[in-house]
Amino acid sequence: MLQLVPSAAEPSVCSAKGCRRPGLHAVVWRNPKLHTPERRKVWLACDDHQGSLSDFVAKRGFLIEVIPVDRLTDADG
Ligand SMILES: [Zn+2]
Repeated sequence: MLQLVPSAAEPSVCSAKGCRRPGLHAVVWRNPKLHTPERRKVWLACDDHQGSLSDFVAKRGFLIEVIPVDRLTDADG
């Protein structure tokens, strides 16, 4: 079984509740009522949850973009 070493800088597990699969996609979002314009909140999503997590924030008007996790920068979090 593949052992992934956890890293505080790069959490690697899907953000969906109860899901322990690797987060391959980064759903980048912001709630304009809570966050300043520079702020970028990130949810990681596996292939199965990328659609549901991005839909969830998109319906609320919070979605900024969905990118591969290797394109995240230090400004994201
Ligand atoms: Zn998942």
